[in-house]
Amino acid sequence: MNRRRFLSSALKTASAASCAPFFTNGVQALALSENQKSAAPRDPNAPRPQLALTMDDPRTKLDTTVRWPDANARILRALDSRNVRAALFVCGMRVDDYDGSKLLSAWDQSGHLICNHSYSHLNYCGPTSYADFAVDFLKNEKIIAPYHNRTQLFRYPFLKEGDTADKRDRFRSLLKEDGYRVGYVTIDASDWYVNQRFADHFAKQPKTPVGPYRDYLIAHLLDRASFYRQLAIDVLGRDIRHTILVHYNDLNALVLPEVMAAFETAGWQWIDASLAFQDEAFRLQPKTLPAGESLVWALASESGRFQDRLRYPGEDDVYEEPKMIALGL
Ligand SMILES: [Zn+2]
Repeated sequence: MNRRRFLSSALKTASAASCAPFFTNGVQALALSENQKSAAPRDPNAPRPQLALTMDDPRTKLDTTVRWPDANARILRALDSRNVRAALFVCGMRVDDYDGSKLLSAWDQSGHLICNHSYSHLNYCGPTSYADFAVDFLKNEKIIAPYHNRTQLFRYPFLKEGDTADKRDRFRSLLKEDGYRVGYVTIDASDWYVNQRFADHFAKQPKTPVGPYRDYLIAHLLDRASFYRQLAIDVLGRDIRHTILVHYNDLNALVLPEVMAAFETAGWQWIDASLAFQDEAFRLQPKTLPAGESLVWALASESGRFQDRLRYPGEDDVYEEPKMIALGL
C-alpha cells in the first residue's frame, strides 16, 4: 500500500472509531475501567491532575509507509489543537542531516522546547564510561544549538542515570555546571513497544488496522498514568505536575489526537511542558542505584516504602508482550 492509501485507511479507521462505540473489546474495556476509576471520585470543582507531553527521539526514518513530513505535521497539529507546548528530546544521530533540521525547525517554530537526549543514545547503566557519556552529551549540544527554543533539559537515554554512585554523581555535576536540569519522566510507559509490534505486523500485512493498536496504547498509557499519579501522591503527599513519555513514531503520529482526548475524558488536563518542569518535584535527585527510571519510581524506591509496587525496570516490553500476544496484536 502506498503512503497516501495507508494514511487514508488509517484515518478512516480512526474516524469510524470516533463514531462507533469506542470501548467494545477487552482492551477497550480496560480503558473504560481506567476512565471510570479516574472519573468516579472526581468532584467537578476539584483541580484536575495535570500532565505535559514529552516526546523522545524524533527521526526522519519511520517504521511503516508513513513519511516523516506527514508524521511531523500530524503530531504538531495534535499539540496545536490543545494549544499546549511539548518538550522534544532530541537524539542527534537520528536528525543529523538536512531533513532532520527541517523537522526540528518545525517544532521550534511551533514553540515547543528543544531539549538534549544525547547524540548516540548510549546506555549509562551499561559499560559506557562517564567520559564517553559526557562527550556524547556535549556533541548533541551542536545539534540543538541553532534553535530558539533550545532548553537546557537533559533526558537520559533509556532513563538510565548510571550504575555506580561515581558515574551518577559525576554526570549530575556536569549537568549542573552546564546549567542543565534533568528532563525527568514521571509517567513512563512502553508506547515504543506497541508501535514496534504494530510496525512488525504492518510489514507482514499492510492491511493491519490501526484501531486495535491505538486502543491498546490508550489503555496502557492511561493505566500507567493512573499508577504513577497514585504513587506520586503516596510518596510526596500531593499531586505533582506530570510529564508523560511518548516516542516519535508511526503509531503516535497516527493516533495522538485520540490519545490526548482519552486523557481529557479520564480527567487529566494537558499543560505546557515548561510549566510541568517548574514543579518542585523536578528538583529532587533520588540517590538510587542503578540510578534512573521514572522520577516517581526512583523517589518511591529511595523511600524504601513501596517495594511491593515497584518492578525493575519500571516499564519494558516484557510486561506488555504476553498481553499483546493474547489479544492477537
Ligand atoms: Zn530515547
